[in-house]
Amino acid sequence: MTASAPPPDPAPTDPSNTPWSGPARHLFGSSLAVRLLRVILGCYLVVAVAVTGVQVFTEYRSAHQRLEADIRAMERTFGEGLADALWNFNAGVLRGILRGVAEMPVVTGAELRDEHGGMVERVGGQVGGEEGAKRWPALFDRPFERRFDLVYTDENRRPHRVGHWIVRSNDGIALDQVKETLIVILINSLLKTLALLAIFSVVVYRMVGRPLAEIGAFVTGLDARSLGARPLRLRARGHHELHLLAGVFNAMAAKLRRAFDDNAALLHDLQEANATLQARVEERTRDLERLAVTDPLTGLSNRRALDEALADAVREEGAGLSLILADIDHFKAINDRHGHAVGDAVLVALAGALGDAARPGDRLGRWGGEEFVILCPSTDLAAAQALAESMRLRVSETEIAGVGRRTCSFGVAARAAGESVDGLLVRADAALYAAKHAGRDRVETAGPSPALDRRSAA
Ligand code: GH3
Ligand code: MG
Ligand code: MG
Repeated sequence: MTASAPPPDPAPTDPSNTPWSGPARHLFGSSLAVRLLRVILGCYLVVAVAVTGVQVFTEYRSAHQRLEADIRAMERTFGEGLADALWNFNAGVLRGILRGVAEMPVVTGAELRDEHGGMVERVGGQVGGEEGAKRWPALFDRPFERRFDLVYTDENRRPHRVGHWIVRSNDGIALDQVKETLIVILINSLLKTLALLAIFSVVVYRMVGRPLAEIGAFVTGLDARSLGARPLRLRARGHHELHLLAGVFNAMAAKLRRAFDDNAALLHDLQEANATLQARVEERTRDLERLAVTDPLTGLSNRRALDEALADAVREEGAGLSLILADIDHFKAINDRHGHAVGDAVLVALAGALGDAARPGDRLGRWGGEEFVILCPSTDLAAAQALAESMRLRVSETEIAGVGRRTCSFGVAARAAGESVDGLLVRADAALYAAKHAGRDRVETAGPSPALDRRSAA
């Protein structure tokens, strides 16, 4: 698959701005409803114009035929009188009859000629004369004439051709006669078209435009929050394709809602699991941190914690810090005689005894093997010595199951000003060694720091 830039989002968020909605947009926009309306009305107009044209033409034709019939009827009405008057050459009667003919509304003029074609009498305008042109539109200004022979029948019933007469008329007269009918037909068509336009607009808008606008607004308004909250209901009645489409959209929204809810539940579970895991990790980290500075057997601070505490104490305390080293006497013999497990039990029991004797603020830890350290802040040598003594007593009074009572030796050193941790430890260790050497189960104090001594001597 090739990645291509996504097309710009065509869906505006405000449904009233969509091309789907609003009767005005429905009429003048480019929606499906408008196209439908245009096609329907276009077809209707073509048909209406054709039907109206045929109607107008038929009316006009029958008016023309009536005109022709009227003019032919004149031959029967006036022909005999004219033939009679021409035979007798009664000029007064001839003129009277011709004027009477010319008075007829369907006639524009008339003339009478003898059997040689000579003009006898003429009334009204000529064919194609000015009269017609003035009265009717040029399209319908079509003058025409009809010629009738004049035959006189004598007493012996013998016919004598005496001449002919011509009646002139104009198609415009036929138009004149049906003018009102044509106007009614045109107004009729116009009204029908307008009424259909209005009816189709409303029907197409209600059946197509509005439902599509509702579907459009529904889809446009869909988001994670409103999804499935309110189903789409079309106002249009019925159960056609658009209702089915609305149903499909509702089913889709409900499906999406369920998927969203499932995801939300999953996310919630995941967050809970994450929180639990985080709490466990924190607890484990705390355990590990505690284990890193704790001696697992006795639960006291281990060598590492003691190193840090010593460094801190030296940095903060300056003078006034004392250190006690305690070592269980002949411990190896316990292991050898009673086994390692009992040795462990002795370590735990005597660690407890040392802890019981320690003061609040003292820091007791296991230095390694069967050796312990007690850090005594703000404590001078005499106080530390007294404390070590009370510890020695407490240890020696502690009864251990299967082993009885045991003893510890103690070395005590008070830190001289500026003395290093190592210096202090060396002196305390030396004091412990002295205690061991002097017979064990005793407290020995360290002498002054040789380096500091040399400095003070200098
Ligand atoms: P001293 O009176 O001179 O201190 O003699 P000691 O036997 O106590 O000293 P030594 O250094 O000879 O022996 C210490 C023994 O402590 C050796 C070692 O096996 C034992 N030990 C060290 N750590 C442990 C432990 O965690 N548990 C047990 N059961 N024994 C330990
Ligand atoms: Mg030892
Ligand atoms: Mg020992």
